[in-house]
Amino acid sequence: MRTFLRKVSFANRIFTLLLTLSFSMSSFLFWNISTHAEDEIPTYSGSASVVVNKNIPGFTAAEIVTKSYEHYGELDKQGRCTPAMACLGEDLMPTEERQSIGMVKPTGWKQKKYPGIVDSDPPYLYNRCHMIGFQLTGENANEKNLITGTRYMNVEGMLPYENKVADYVRSTGNHVMYRVTPVFEGKNLLCNGVQIEAYSVEDKGKGISFNVYCYNVQPGVIINYSNGSNKADPDYKKSISTDKFVFTGDNSETSADRSVPAGTTYVVNKSSKKFHKPTCDSVKDMKEKNKVYYEGTRDDLIQQGYEPCKRCCP
Ligand SMILES: [Zn+2]
Repeated sequence: MRTFLRKVSFANRIFTLLLTLSFSMSSFLFWNISTHAEDEIPTYSGSASVVVNKNIPGFTAAEIVTKSYEHYGELDKQGRCTPAMACLGEDLMPTEERQSIGMVKPTGWKQKKYPGIVDSDPPYLYNRCHMIGFQLTGENANEKNLITGTRYMNVEGMLPYENKVADYVRSTGNHVMYRVTPVFEGKNLLCNGVQIEAYSVEDKGKGISFNVYCYNVQPGVIINYSNGSNKADPDYKKSISTDKFVFTGDNSETSADRSVPAGTTYVVNKSSKKFHKPTCDSVKDMKEKNKVYYEGTRDDLIQQGYEPCKRCCP
């Protein structure tokens, strides 16, 4: 366990102990906060996350500290994760490679593959989602920090916020108060989503301050939240028919200088819904993650709702 590898001073230990105690006392309050957040969460409508409580994080003055720590709540009676909270600092960030977490089976773990629907390889619906991301505290197989979350929630919902916080901590050396609350309805084993609150300490929220909710959904899959079971949504219109695409670009924000794969008839922009001749200048400007190298006809693309580019007129 990484926790033991980290050099923790005696003072730090006492501090953590005190914090654990105060955390237990205030956990009742936390749940009330999360319940309030739940009341105002709109149903999922195409965006992986939404702002809650006007984007104001709910940390009390007493909770905001300048010394790094991490706290993971005990599993509840159903074996479900409870809120995890940390004062993130550079000293908590991992210095070692990520280790296997495959032995942890969080509640609602009913794994299935959805080729052509889930955008990963292999196309597993569920990830073991770190509530407090590995890049922030380096926790590996900590069952109090791993929930069953869709690939979509993990990558489209939570990751952008984690990256933002990690970049901030790394570039400033400042601390960020960070709390992740899984929101379960009743006795459901799969959470509907997670609330993430963050607040940068030294600059009083100037660098980082948000309160968001990420949906535990996967477009194209119908999920039963009572136990995590799932099935393909027959009404889901896949954005691009999978029998025809060559491959999608990688996850990068920039345009990779990659040669177009053989057989590609058009390069499709997943985001703008436009398609181009592979030689079009717009392809060079396109973010790699938005690219789909498509092998098929113009008519097929138009039928799927894509528009020809006005520059290259494919
Ligand atoms: Zn074009």
